[in-house]
Amino acid sequence: MTPTEDSTARDILAWALDTFGRRFAISTSFQDSGMVILDMAARISRDVRVLTLDTGRLPQETYAMIESVRERYGVTVEVVSPDAAEVESMVSQHGPNLFYQEPALRTLCCHIRKVRPLERKLRELDAWAVGLRRQQGETREGVPKVDLEATPVKLSPLADWTKEQVEEYLRRQDVPRHPLYEQGYASIGCAPCTRPVRPGEHDRAGRWWWEEESHKECGIHFGPNGKVRRTLDVLLEEVLSSDYA
Ligand code: SF4
Repeated sequence: MTPTEDSTARDILAWALDTFGRRFAISTSFQDSGMVILDMAARISRDVRVLTLDTGRLPQETYAMIESVRERYGVTVEVVSPDAAEVESMVSQHGPNLFYQEPALRTLCCHIRKVRPLERKLRELDAWAVGLRRQQGETREGVPKVDLEATPVKLSPLADWTKEQVEEYLRRQDVPRHPLYEQGYASIGCAPCTRPVRPGEHDRAGRWWWEEESHKECGIHFGPNGKVRRTLDVLLEEVLSSDYA
Protein backbone atom coordinates (compact mmCIF):
# COMPACT_ATOMS: atom_id res chain seq x y z
CA MET A 1 0.00 0.00 0.00
CA THR A 2 1.28 3.48 -0.85
CA PRO A 3 2.70 5.07 2.32
CA THR A 4 1.26 8.20 3.91
CA GLU A 5 2.23 10.71 6.59
CA ASP A 6 1.16 8.09 9.17
CA SER A 7 3.48 5.39 7.87
CA THR A 8 6.57 4.45 9.85
CA ALA A 9 10.04 5.04 8.46
CA ARG A 10 10.59 1.31 8.11
CA ASP A 11 7.31 0.81 6.24
CA ILE A 12 8.14 3.62 3.82
CA LEU A 13 11.55 2.12 3.04
CA ALA A 14 10.12 -1.42 2.72
CA TRP A 15 7.48 -0.12 0.29
CA ALA A 16 10.10 1.71 -1.80
CA LEU A 17 12.41 -1.31 -1.98
CA ASP A 18 9.53 -3.58 -2.92
CA THR A 19 7.94 -1.19 -5.42
CA PHE A 20 10.97 0.27 -7.17
CA GLY A 21 13.77 -2.28 -6.53
CA ARG A 22 17.00 -1.10 -8.14
CA ARG A 23 15.25 2.05 -9.42
CA PHE A 24 15.25 3.22 -5.79
CA ALA A 25 18.24 4.53 -3.81
CA ILE A 26 19.18 6.08 -0.49
CA SER A 27 21.10 9.33 -0.86
CA THR A 28 23.30 10.16 2.10
CA SER A 29 26.30 12.19 3.20
CA PHE A 30 26.67 9.78 6.17
CA GLN A 31 25.35 12.17 8.79
CA ASP A 32 23.20 10.76 11.59
CA SER A 33 19.78 10.85 9.89
CA GLY A 34 21.15 9.45 6.64
CA MET A 35 22.81 6.63 8.56
CA VAL A 36 19.49 5.72 10.20
CA ILE A 37 17.71 5.27 6.88
CA LEU A 38 20.72 3.47 5.40
CA ASP A 39 20.81 1.05 8.35
CA MET A 40 17.04 0.50 8.23
CA ALA A 41 17.04 -0.10 4.49
CA ALA A 42 20.05 -2.45 4.63
CA ARG A 43 18.25 -4.54 7.28
CA ILE A 44 15.35 -4.93 4.84
CA SER A 45 17.51 -5.61 1.76
CA ARG A 46 21.28 -5.81 1.31
CA ASP A 47 20.60 -5.03 -2.32
CA VAL A 48 19.70 -1.41 -1.50
CA ARG A 49 21.44 1.19 -3.63
CA VAL A 50 23.37 3.85 -1.71
CA LEU A 51 24.39 7.12 -3.37
CA THR A 52 26.70 9.82 -2.11
CA LEU A 53 28.02 13.02 -3.61
CA ASP A 54 31.77 13.50 -3.69
CA THR A 55 32.11 17.24 -4.25
CA GLY A 56 35.90 17.02 -4.32
CA ARG A 57 36.02 19.18 -1.15
CA LEU A 58 34.88 16.66 1.46
CA PRO A 59 36.70 16.17 4.77
CA GLN A 60 38.86 13.05 5.06
CA GLU A 61 36.49 11.78 7.77
CA THR A 62 33.65 11.48 5.22
CA TYR A 63 35.79 9.23 3.04
CA ALA A 64 36.47 7.16 6.17
CA MET A 65 32.68 6.85 6.56
CA ILE A 66 32.38 5.49 3.01
CA GLU A 67 34.88 2.78 3.99
CA SER A 68 33.01 2.06 7.25
CA VAL A 69 29.69 1.71 5.41
CA ARG A 70 31.17 -0.55 2.73
CA GLU A 71 32.66 -2.78 5.42
CA ARG A 72 29.68 -2.83 7.82
CA TYR A 73 26.86 -3.31 5.30
CA GLY A 74 28.62 -4.90 2.32
CA VAL A 75 26.87 -2.45 0.02
CA THR A 76 28.32 -0.69 -2.98
CA VAL A 77 28.45 3.05 -2.34
CA GLU A 78 27.81 4.79 -5.66
CA VAL A 79 30.01 7.88 -5.54
CA VAL A 80 28.66 10.68 -7.70
CA SER A 81 31.20 13.25 -8.87
CA PRO A 82 30.80 16.65 -10.51
CA ASP A 83 31.55 17.13 -14.19
CA ALA A 84 35.30 17.82 -14.39
CA ALA A 85 34.96 20.37 -17.21
CA GLU A 86 32.34 22.33 -15.25
CA VAL A 87 34.55 22.41 -12.16
CA GLU A 88 37.55 23.53 -14.22
CA SER A 89 35.53 26.31 -15.80
CA MET A 90 34.14 27.52 -12.46
CA VAL A 91 37.48 27.43 -10.64
CA SER A 92 39.31 29.10 -13.53
CA GLN A 93 36.77 31.94 -13.60
CA HIS A 94 36.26 32.46 -9.87
CA GLY A 95 39.08 30.70 -7.99
CA PRO A 96 39.02 27.56 -5.84
CA ASN A 97 37.59 29.29 -2.76
CA LEU A 98 34.88 31.29 -4.52
CA PHE A 99 32.31 30.36 -1.86
CA TYR A 100 33.73 32.89 0.62
CA GLN A 101 33.21 35.84 -1.76
CA GLU A 102 29.40 36.15 -1.93
CA PRO A 103 26.26 33.98 -1.54
CA ALA A 104 25.66 33.68 -5.30
CA LEU A 105 29.18 32.30 -5.86
CA ARG A 106 28.75 29.90 -2.94
CA THR A 107 25.50 28.72 -4.48
CA LEU A 108 27.23 28.39 -7.85
CA CYS A 109 29.82 26.07 -6.28
CA CYS A 110 27.05 24.00 -4.65
CA HIS A 111 25.27 23.80 -8.01
CA ILE A 112 28.32 22.64 -9.94
CA ARG A 113 29.59 20.26 -7.25
CA LYS A 114 26.29 18.96 -5.83
CA VAL A 115 23.02 19.92 -7.51
CA ARG A 116 23.91 19.21 -11.15
CA PRO A 117 25.71 15.87 -10.50
CA LEU A 118 22.81 14.70 -8.36
CA GLU A 119 20.26 15.73 -10.99
CA ARG A 120 22.16 13.64 -13.52
CA LYS A 121 22.20 10.63 -11.19
CA LEU A 122 18.52 10.95 -10.29
CA ARG A 123 17.60 10.38 -13.93
CA GLU A 124 18.43 6.68 -13.28
CA LEU A 125 15.82 6.44 -10.51
CA ASP A 126 12.08 6.30 -9.95
CA ALA A 127 12.37 7.04 -6.22
CA TRP A 128 14.95 8.16 -3.67
CA ALA A 129 15.09 8.55 0.09
CA VAL A 130 16.88 11.21 2.09
CA GLY A 131 17.42 11.94 5.78
CA LEU A 132 15.63 15.32 5.96
CA ARG A 133 13.90 16.10 9.26
CA ARG A 134 11.49 18.95 9.95
CA GLN A 135 13.35 19.85 13.13
CA GLN A 136 16.53 20.65 11.20
CA GLY A 137 15.58 24.26 10.53
CA GLU A 138 13.10 26.72 9.11
CA THR A 139 13.58 25.67 5.49
CA ARG A 140 12.74 22.06 6.39
CA GLU A 141 9.66 22.60 8.52
CA GLY A 142 7.25 21.58 5.75
CA VAL A 143 9.07 18.49 4.44
CA PRO A 144 6.55 15.75 3.51
CA LYS A 145 7.39 12.14 4.31
CA VAL A 146 6.22 11.02 0.89
CA ASP A 147 6.27 13.28 -2.16
CA LEU A 148 4.64 11.34 -4.97
CA GLU A 149 4.47 14.42 -7.20
CA ALA A 150 8.25 14.74 -7.35
CA THR A 151 10.27 13.16 -10.14
CA PRO A 152 11.70 10.87 -8.98
CA VAL A 153 9.39 10.20 -6.02
CA LYS A 154 11.06 11.71 -2.96
CA LEU A 155 10.88 10.05 0.44
CA SER A 156 11.90 11.58 3.77
CA PRO A 157 11.05 8.70 6.12
CA LEU A 158 12.44 10.53 9.18
CA ALA A 159 10.61 13.82 8.50
CA ASP A 160 8.84 13.70 11.88
CA TRP A 161 11.74 12.24 13.90
CA THR A 162 13.46 14.23 16.61
CA LYS A 163 17.23 14.43 17.05
CA GLU A 164 16.83 12.34 20.21
CA GLN A 165 15.01 9.58 18.30
CA VAL A 166 17.81 9.52 15.74
CA GLU A 167 20.49 9.28 18.43
CA GLU A 168 18.58 6.57 20.25
CA TYR A 169 18.29 4.50 17.05
CA LEU A 170 22.02 4.89 16.32
CA ARG A 171 22.91 3.77 19.85
CA ARG A 172 20.51 0.84 19.87
CA GLN A 173 21.63 -0.51 16.51
CA ASP A 174 25.31 0.43 17.00
CA VAL A 175 25.35 2.30 13.70
CA PRO A 176 28.69 3.82 12.54
CA ARG A 177 28.85 7.54 13.35
CA HIS A 178 30.62 10.26 11.39
CA PRO A 179 33.86 11.01 13.34
CA LEU A 180 33.37 14.80 13.14
CA TYR A 181 30.43 14.71 15.58
CA GLU A 182 33.03 13.91 18.26
CA GLN A 183 34.78 17.17 17.37
CA GLY A 184 31.73 19.37 17.91
CA TYR A 185 30.24 19.36 14.42
CA ALA A 186 26.43 19.16 14.31
CA SER A 187 25.90 19.23 10.53
CA ILE A 188 28.62 18.06 8.15
CA GLY A 189 29.26 19.10 4.57
CA CYS A 190 32.35 20.15 2.62
CA ALA A 191 35.55 20.82 4.62
CA PRO A 192 35.95 24.54 3.78
CA CYS A 193 32.26 25.28 4.42
CA THR A 194 31.66 23.53 7.74
CA ARG A 195 32.82 24.28 11.26
CA PRO A 196 31.90 22.91 14.71
CA VAL A 197 28.97 24.65 16.43
CA ARG A 198 29.35 26.66 19.60
CA PRO A 199 27.19 26.12 22.71
CA GLY A 200 23.68 27.50 22.10
CA GLU A 201 23.99 27.61 18.30
CA HIS A 202 21.50 25.71 16.16
CA ASP A 203 22.71 22.61 14.34
CA ARG A 204 23.16 24.21 10.92
CA ALA A 205 24.99 27.28 12.24
CA GLY A 206 28.30 25.66 11.31
CA ARG A 207 27.39 25.45 7.62
CA TRP A 208 28.47 28.52 5.55
CA TRP A 209 28.87 30.32 8.86
CA TRP A 210 30.06 33.54 7.16
CA GLU A 211 26.60 33.87 5.57
CA GLU A 212 24.80 34.58 8.80
CA GLU A 213 21.67 35.92 7.13
CA SER A 214 21.33 33.62 4.13
CA HIS A 215 19.35 30.41 4.01
CA LYS A 216 21.61 27.49 4.91
CA GLU A 217 20.87 25.15 2.05
CA CYS A 218 23.00 23.92 -0.85
CA GLY A 219 20.15 23.86 -3.36
CA ILE A 220 19.62 20.09 -3.54
CA HIS A 221 16.42 20.20 -1.51
CA PHE A 222 15.59 23.90 -1.39
CA GLY A 223 16.86 26.28 -4.06
CA PRO A 224 17.75 29.95 -3.56
CA ASN A 225 15.29 32.76 -4.32
CA GLY A 226 15.33 36.39 -5.37
CA LYS A 227 18.59 38.15 -6.14
CA VAL A 228 20.82 35.17 -5.32
CA ARG A 229 18.80 32.99 -7.72
CA ARG A 230 19.00 35.57 -10.51
CA THR A 231 22.74 36.10 -10.04
CA LEU A 232 23.27 32.34 -9.87
CA ASP A 233 21.54 31.86 -13.22
CA VAL A 234 23.90 34.38 -14.86
CA LEU A 235 26.98 32.82 -13.23
CA LEU A 236 25.91 29.32 -14.27
CA GLU A 237 25.42 30.45 -17.84
CA GLU A 238 28.95 31.90 -17.88
CA VAL A 239 30.51 28.77 -16.42
CA LEU A 240 28.65 26.38 -18.73
CA SER A 241 29.32 28.38 -21.89
CA SER A 242 33.08 28.81 -21.39
CA ASP A 243 35.64 26.82 -23.36
CA TYR A 244 36.31 24.59 -20.38
CA ALA A 245 32.79 23.26 -19.89
S1 SF4 B 1 29.53 23.22 0.46
FE1 SF4 B 1 31.16 24.67 -0.11
S2 SF4 B 1 32.76 23.52 -1.23
FE2 SF4 B 1 30.90 22.24 -1.03
S3 SF4 B 1 29.86 22.51 -2.95
FE3 SF4 B 1 28.94 24.02 -1.51
S4 SF4 B 1 30.18 25.89 -1.68
FE4 SF4 B 1 31.29 24.24 -2.74
